[in-house]
Amino acid sequence: MVQHEIDFSHLPSPCYIVDENKIKHNLEILADVQEKANCKILLALKGFAMHSVFPLISKYLKGITASSLFEARLGYEEFEGEVHIYAPAYRPDEFPKLLKYGDHIVFNSFSQWQRYEPLVAEYNAKNKKKILCGIRINPEYSEIEKPIYNPCYKYSRLGVTLDNFRADELDGITGLHFHTHCEQNSEPLERTVRVVDLKFGEYLKNMKWLNYGGGHHITRPDYDIPKLINSIKYMQDKYGLEIYLEPGEAIALNTGYMVATVLDIVHNEIDIAILDTSAAAHMPDVLEMPYRPYVLGSGMANEYKYTYRFGGLTCLAGDVIGDYSFNEPLKIGDRIVFTDMAHYTMVKNNMFNGVNLPSIAVFTLEQKIKVVRKFNYQDFKKRLS
Ligand SMILES: *Cc1c(COP(=O)(O)O)cnc(C)c1O
Repeated sequence: MVQHEIDFSHLPSPCYIVDENKIKHNLEILADVQEKANCKILLALKGFAMHSVFPLISKYLKGITASSLFEARLGYEEFEGEVHIYAPAYRPDEFPKLLKYGDHIVFNSFSQWQRYEPLVAEYNAKNKKKILCGIRINPEYSEIEKPIYNPCYKYSRLGVTLDNFRADELDGITGLHFHTHCEQNSEPLERTVRVVDLKFGEYLKNMKWLNYGGGHHITRPDYDIPKLINSIKYMQDKYGLEIYLEPGEAIALNTGYMVATVLDIVHNEIDIAILDTSAAAHMPDVLEMPYRPYVLGSGMANEYKYTYRFGGLTCLAGDVIGDYSFNEPLKIGDRIVFTDMAHYTMVKNNMFNGVNLPSIAVFTLEQKIKVVRKFNYQDFKKRLS
């Protein structure tokens, strides 16, 4: 891949900047999988919903997957392609609107399916577009270790287990859906597909499609793509199913940065740099996952001569990003660039403490910087009364 030089020095601060060239690189990998495996890949808006780059993404992927009315509408209005919808439950006041946007609607339980089946039937009878319905299953097999990210942990509300599967209520159901992965390579998928086959194979015989969910880290350099393709072909060959994948992270992995600025340097046994950003507000996964984002030109604590703890702008004591070392001492006003900041950032950030949101910029295919959005006091105020 060609490395493009982005000049971070003239951006607003803080600011996310997404590199379309890197998005394109990921999309080429995904398009290759679509072609070789004859499957359909959707962008999960939950992980990345920066709609100014949807025109680029829709050239490669078949559609989007939404987990709410707003995401479904955004996909319908801004993305040229199929709209798939899944949520743990649908609100009666919102469901009629989902019918307009959706191509596939996946239900989390048979009671939800029973409740909304008449509305789907009525819609399909009246409209040219025919909505396909599916059930999310819980194969009770996942290799995700953190319970907060594991949809198969004990008492999980996500998907129907084999014990609760109602074989006599499948009339009108054309597909099944499972989502049991998170940032994983294709080996766990290979094992999961076997479990799904073993448990739900007799139902798959009568289905037209199967959605493998998200969490497939397909664009990571060490990802085993041939194994993914084999896992797709397995279900295609055995049951003649159309296979969907709906990753979010894989589309935006390693495509974006966040630029921040050192506002102050304080000392309390160690050196602490206070930045104009926040883990709690602008990169919540740093605290929730938790993980330590990489900073351009930095090393681990004490790897280089000058080590700083990076702290955020909110009053939360734990609003700490991590410890970083540099060859030269940091100065107030220095710019800091965090990498891999495109996914699960903009979609999750908040204005806790009234801290403004980072601006959003794009580094275009023509290698120009374009600031696409800045936020202001009205954005803060409108949500609060
Ligand atoms: C979160 C989620 C995705 C996307 O997951 P990534 O880890 O971003 O690939 C897809 N489908 C469902 C049902 C999800 O909950």
